[in-house]
Amino acid sequence: MTKDVLAYIGLGSNLNDPVIQVTRALEALGTIEGTSILEASQFYTSPAMGGPVDQADYVNAVAALRTVLSPRNLLQQLQLLELSQGRKRGPRWGSRIIDLDILLYGDRIIDEKDFRVPHISLHQRAFVLIPLFEIAPDLIMPNHGKLSHLVDALDSDELELVRN
Ligand code: AMP
Repeated sequence: MTKDVLAYIGLGSNLNDPVIQVTRALEALGTIEGTSILEASQFYTSPAMGGPVDQADYVNAVAALRTVLSPRNLLQQLQLLELSQGRKRGPRWGSRIIDLDILLYGDRIIDEKDFRVPHISLHQRAFVLIPLFEIAPDLIMPNHGKLSHLVDALDSDELELVRN
């Protein structure tokens, strides 16, 4: 039997009705071969960080997956989902219909030029750390230690829950 791994995925959108885009992407994550969704956070909204000025606010969430896919195969599947949802490659930090990042893949550390796990910005971003903390408050992360410590250090004034 292939061993499965617990992975955390960050989802974000600030184009074409972001709540619908993140909802669609969450549904699509559950259709990836060898992969199932264990849990998903609520949706959070915050102003765009960096990039071109006047971008719309983002909606973000985090999902916990069980997967038998390798990290690279999982990344490939996420990139296919981004494309199938109409993602176009724009400027770095530019607006996007959907962004799917591998935040964590079990306790693996991957440090390749085009692929870093834990995700390179994981530890700095309230819009990742807070939804992650919602679904995994006791998480201890490779390279970063206790999630709760990172959350305590955050200045997360600009993050708000999306109310349905
Ligand atoms: P983005 O603008 O966030 O969609 O960036 C996509 C690029 O980030 C792709 O070329 C990926 O290879 C690269 N990348 C590096 N590490 C990760 C990761 N942990 N999850 C997703 N993409 C990653």
